[in-house]
Amino acid sequence: MIKKVLIANRGEIAVRVIRSCREMGIQTVAVFSDADRLALHVRYADEAYHIGPSPSHESYLNGDRIIEVALKSGADAIHPGYGFLSENTEFATKCKEAGITFIGPDPYAITQMGDKISARQTMIAVGVPVVPGTQQKVSDMESVKKIADEIGLPVIIKASAGGGGKGMRLVRNADELISAVKMAQSEALSAFGNDTVYIEKYVESPHHIEFQILADRHGNTVHLFERECSIQRRHQKVVEETPSPFITPELREEMGRAAVAAAKAVNYVGAGTIEFLVDANRNFYFLEMNTRLQVEHPITERVTDIDLVKEQIRIASGLPISFAQEELKQHGHAIECRILAEDPFNNFMPSPGLIKHISEPNGFGVRTDGYAYEGYEIPIYYDPMISKLIVWGRNRDEAINRMKRALFEYKITGVKTSIRFLERIMDNHDFQSGNYNTHFIQENLGELMNIVSRGTRVYEDMAIIAAYFDFMTKMGKVAMSDFTVFHSDNWKTFGIKRSLFPY
Ligand code: ADP
Repeated sequence: MIKKVLIANRGEIAVRVIRSCREMGIQTVAVFSDADRLALHVRYADEAYHIGPSPSHESYLNGDRIIEVALKSGADAIHPGYGFLSENTEFATKCKEAGITFIGPDPYAITQMGDKISARQTMIAVGVPVVPGTQQKVSDMESVKKIADEIGLPVIIKASAGGGGKGMRLVRNADELISAVKMAQSEALSAFGNDTVYIEKYVESPHHIEFQILADRHGNTVHLFERECSIQRRHQKVVEETPSPFITPELREEMGRAAVAAAKAVNYVGAGTIEFLVDANRNFYFLEMNTRLQVEHPITERVTDIDLVKEQIRIASGLPISFAQEELKQHGHAIECRILAEDPFNNFMPSPGLIKHISEPNGFGVRTDGYAYEGYEIPIYYDPMISKLIVWGRNRDEAINRMKRALFEYKITGVKTSIRFLERIMDNHDFQSGNYNTHFIQENLGELMNIVSRGTRVYEDMAIIAAYFDFMTKMGKVAMSDFTVFHSDNWKTFGIKRSLFPY
């Protein structure tokens, strides 16, 4: 059994992994960059080591340095979290060579699934449906036109090494085709160091629905149901929920079987996610596999009661998965909102900086996976996520109401956050009726941006002012009649001023 884990990551995911380790009686080692010397994961772990300057390529992406620290600290395993080195074949191989267990799949599976073209070929071979498109890289421009004719416009040009929504180009008109391919190639080259692109049919109004899988070295591969991730902005997930309000029990079973087959096709071991696109007629197509833990994994944990990090550690230790497929049930409904340090009402501008005040929601059915605290400065070097807010309800309606209540309780000052924007999503009629696809945010942007009615928040702020005045009048310091309330038309600014100044 693994005894000491080095977490090659930072932020909320490093804290989250340490939590499971502590419950399992496993020692933890944190690594940190200059900017993270005061970060929560550093305080939470049993030991912490500085690995370099703030930019990721000099610290969290420096695999050799991290392995050195693992050996020095006596860690027998490395958990990569998500992002950074989590899907890096070379790093996984180096861990193995150094005699350290990489908590993730074998290098072969990472390579096979990390390249989108080879992943598509593998899926076709085992009969898992893929989005119609090319099986080879795009070479000459003549064949590009021919392929687009065959598939039919619109198409998407995708980087084979792509990820994070980068290196994708939508083409609706034939005359844009060649320039789009060229642009995608140069974008792919600069973002991933590889200009291989391929062509895929553009699925209109799709749902992004993914399946969580787990596989051990004893021949067991199971799925832990789906996550509906169609609330996206620029191909990046914003809100996730499970069960999906879109799929039927039959489709769930069919997609679950396909997900297990997909994992088995590469002899997958560990936790992974099979992403599918589902069209308006409920046809599903394999999109890609993420060979690591996902940001949105807690909603799966909430409805299945399975701690995915503990399962990852068990599997990496050579133990079997702790449950069988038949024992699993989805109970109730879970939703996750990603709380980002950005200003949604100013073109989603990143807003790093000092957290002056933070009070997180709590109560029945609420979980926050975060790492920020009062006085902590969110660094500019890394992604802008402050925390993930996860709620559970017996059914979807209860979960939505609970999410609204939790967002209402969430207070962060000092940096701008996406909290109000998320509240607008929860208030949206189409979201509430479960009637949405990946275009939801784009199509509802006007409504989501409308903060004229600030709802209950105004009343809460007013209540604080009223309570203060009540207190002041009782103390005999002021008379209520001395004051008038003022506010701008949209209530963006409001307050109380003295009608009669004493001088
Ligand atoms: P990445 O690896 O960069 O995250 P994905 O292939 O997973 O890229 O796609 C990300 C998102 O882009 C999907 O969730 C979906 O919204 C959109 N997308 C990708 N491929 C297609 C397609 N063929 N048709 C329509 N939308 C697509």
